[in-house]
Amino acid sequence: MTKEQKLHYRQMAELGCSLCRELGYGETPAEIHHIRRSGKRDTAPVIPLCPTHHRFSNTSIHGLGRRAFELKFGLTEEYLLERSLTLIKERYGSRITNTNTKENKTTY
Ligand SMILES: [Zn+2]
Ligand SMILES: [Zn+2]
Repeated sequence: MTKEQKLHYRQMAELGCSLCRELGYGETPAEIHHIRRSGKRDTAPVIPLCPTHHRFSNTSIHGLGRRAFELKFGLTEEYLLERSLTLIKERYGSRITNTNTKENKTTY
């Protein structure tokens, strides 16, 4: 995984669950869900989902399967992806493009 990818994953997770946000639950701590298109998992787009909406319950995307999940909540993975990418741009946009400034360096 590249450094940019890692950063992107972290930013996605920091947004909180993308579905909880749509449902008006606020920022629920989230983990990363890979959207399966064609191609490698490495390059698959990701969205943040809380454990309940990701994998633990019968309201989760892996519990229901993608189609049933999308029908149940009336929105699609792709929509959640669009929303999350927009939010990331709003929150971190300037920081990402500003790679030259050394004072912004964070150590982890
Ligand atoms: Zn959620
Ligand atoms: Zn997943």
